Amino acid sequence: MDKSERLFERARRAIPGGVNSPVRAFQAVGGSPRFIASASGSKIRDADGREYIDYVGSWGPMIVGHAHPRVVEALRRACEKGTSYGAPTELEVELAEKVVEMVPSVEMVRMVNSGTEATLSAIRLARGATGRDKIVKFEGAYHGHADSFLIAAGSGAATLGVPNSPGVTAGAARDTLLARYNDLESVENLVEGAPNEIAAVIVEPVAGNMGVVPPVPGFLEGLREICTREAIVLIFDEVMTGFRVAPGGAQQLYGVRPDLTTLGKILGGGLPVGAFGGRADLMRQVAPEGPIYQAGTLSGNPLAMTAGLETLRILSEPGVYERLESLSRRLDEGTRRNLDALGLDLCTTRVGSMLCLFFASGEVRSWDDASRSNVKAYAAYFQAMLEAGIYLAPAQFEAAFVSLAHSEEDIDRTLDAQRRALDIARKILD
Ligand SMILES: *Cc1c(COP(=O)(O)O)cnc(C)c1O
Repeated sequence: MDKSERLFERARRAIPGGVNSPVRAFQAVGGSPRFIASASGSKIRDADGREYIDYVGSWGPMIVGHAHPRVVEALRRACEKGTSYGAPTELEVELAEKVVEMVPSVEMVRMVNSGTEATLSAIRLARGATGRDKIVKFEGAYHGHADSFLIAAGSGAATLGVPNSPGVTAGAARDTLLARYNDLESVENLVEGAPNEIAAVIVEPVAGNMGVVPPVPGFLEGLREICTREAIVLIFDEVMTGFRVAPGGAQQLYGVRPDLTTLGKILGGGLPVGAFGGRADLMRQVAPEGPIYQAGTLSGNPLAMTAGLETLRILSEPGVYERLESLSRRLDEGTRRNLDALGLDLCTTRVGSMLCLFFASGEVRSWDDASRSNVKAYAAYFQAMLEAGIYLAPAQFEAAFVSLAHSEEDIDRTLDAQRRALDIARKILD
């Protein structure tokens, strides 16, 4: 038994399932999760001293790489000034201004501690502002673990087969209407069926929790039109895509402006941060300026603000997104070559440095398509990659993330390992 296995045994006695977030437990792929001891640049190292090229990146935040010297140094200095005050700081103003500068539709922003808090707060704001109760979300989309969103949820919930969690009230479920991703007609039908009852449409502008599913041309624009026409608040959940697919997120990449935006992951530079922001007339309705309540003891925490700010500064330097694009393209094109060489007809998707290899053929445009994936073949592929020192997400319905710390050599080593791993997985596909 290695150290990770022993730690997992101990963990399972003290922590449900041995983990603090379900997908980490390797249930979808089998075996014991690696316990991580340290990380640097593009690599993570487990408790047994094995090193891996990391494409999980803490599920998105680590876009500049692990333990970036500038982030570490900024944190070291910040620590010495005290770690929390529960009173306003200049750092919060700086990060808020940086977000407003970078994200096209955001005029004002409120910091919270996670993506989940960001989305649930945005929904409360939309409901408070419109006086309506219902929301529309898309099947296979993940917006964190608040009750309203655990209806046909993606990511870990889908992976574990609990897209509708017990403990969510019938009332909460009734107020969440489900549409099909990339299908405007499904949204129109819901709007027709509940006139003047829908407060918000919440969408991942690039779906990243059912694998990676890009929006088809016209989809985001169509949502904008419907929401404007029906006075519905359009929320882009950019917790994953924010600062990832472009400096200003998917709304900049596709040129569509939502009313509210939720952020997280990269915004905290590896520390726990979320945020919601958008039109000033909406944001001014948040307490204490307005009546819609929202608060947090550790919100705007100086360490978290420091890590986020330094990360966004690095991302604002010239050539950064071009570098991410060229590394990601190298990985994507290499994957296509590997698939062709093996005669495998599998779907790959990519938007910037978010990538996915679906163990399914044909195009993937919605959860229906994604859910046709052969998850057993993915598990075999995952295990073979792990064995070869490549750390991918331990589930099919997740993205792979490339960071600025990855090198061409990392990518090429990954592709070499991938050729062998695909050859193993194909036996299960046949
Ligand atoms: C990760 C994620 C969330 C949840 O964020 P947490 O910080 O895990 O609560 C919400 N929405 C999207 C799109 C995400 O990818």
